[in-house]
Amino acid sequence: MKLGGTVHQNCAARGIEMEGGRLSGVVTEAGTIKTRTAVMAGGAWASSFCNQLDVQFPLATIRQSIVRLSPVAQQLPAALISPRVAITRRPDGHYVLAISGRGRADPTPQLLRFAPQFIPMFAKRWRNVFPGGLEGIRWGHETRARWKLDAPTPMERARILDPKPDPAGVREIHRRALDLLPALREARIANTWAGYIDSTPDGVPGIGELPQVPGLILAAGFSGHGFGIGPGAGHLIADIVSGAQPIFDPKPFDPARFNASAWGKVADF
Ligand SMILES: Cc1cc2nc3c(=O)[nH]c(=O)nc-3n(C[C@H](O)[C@H](O)[C@H](O)COP(=O)(O)OP(=O)(O)OC[C@H]3O[C@@H](n4cnc5c(N)ncnc54)[C@H](O)[C@@H]3O)c2cc1C
Repeated sequence: MKLGGTVHQNCAARGIEMEGGRLSGVVTEAGTIKTRTAVMAGGAWASSFCNQLDVQFPLATIRQSIVRLSPVAQQLPAALISPRVAITRRPDGHYVLAISGRGRADPTPQLLRFAPQFIPMFAKRWRNVFPGGLEGIRWGHETRARWKLDAPTPMERARILDPKPDPAGVREIHRRALDLLPALREARIANTWAGYIDSTPDGVPGIGELPQVPGLILAAGFSGHGFGIGPGAGHLIADIVSGAQPIFDPKPFDPARFNASAWGKVADF
């Protein structure tokens, strides 16, 4: 902002404008921003946004549930991460519980569209990814519908995705946490919530300029590790936008890799 940038919050980007075969502007609900370069970092919305541009970016959003427990008198480890359950103490003494990689795949038009590309991932993770319900359709982020640039889009109707937690998932998380740390039995469940993990078929994000839309850089599909790899990913995105030498080889992140094969390598995570 010191250098003249502006920040527009609560303002959906509805689409883009093209001129001479290249991006020339971003159309938002508050007007058009003229630019020759834009980054689409829309998380769980990225695939349906790309679909507006006839770009197929395979994304399955997996609904993961989280449990928060009240503090307990006994001093427990600040963090315990195991394959069965992850327990982290917050600065206020509450404990956040989760099972890494476990969640519900809510059936949506987008999930059906990309199902063949996700079969290897689902086959490998059948113990942890279960069929979900209507939450995905209710939120509308995996619609295959086309939206208009001069009318409210699904993103404006659901600005913050806040899906319902999965009751069976919550019970399982709680049970495993008590098995691991019996002292947590005296804690009460203070809160539960869920979020959508924007997953790609190989668990690796798509970062790079879209060949079909010169000037538009995609940076999405962080597949549950967006906090961890955020700093490096942000550096790479800035390098691509500014034309600098990339901080590392961007090839493995090329969003176009999904076009090559429907049966790409499935990452271990
Ligand atoms: C339950 C849960 C637990 C997780 N745990 C971990 C963890 O332990 N470690 C880890 O590394 N990662 C974790 N993650 C993953 C991490 O949260 C994501 O990888 C990361 O937030 C992705 O960042 P992002 O900026 O790509 O997308 P997001 O954080 O989803 O941000 C995208 C933003 O773009 C906005 N947007 C979308 N479309 C538009 C549009 N058209 N116009 C304007 N704005 C738009 C959205 O409203 C949103 O604010 C977890 C995720 C969940 C749901």
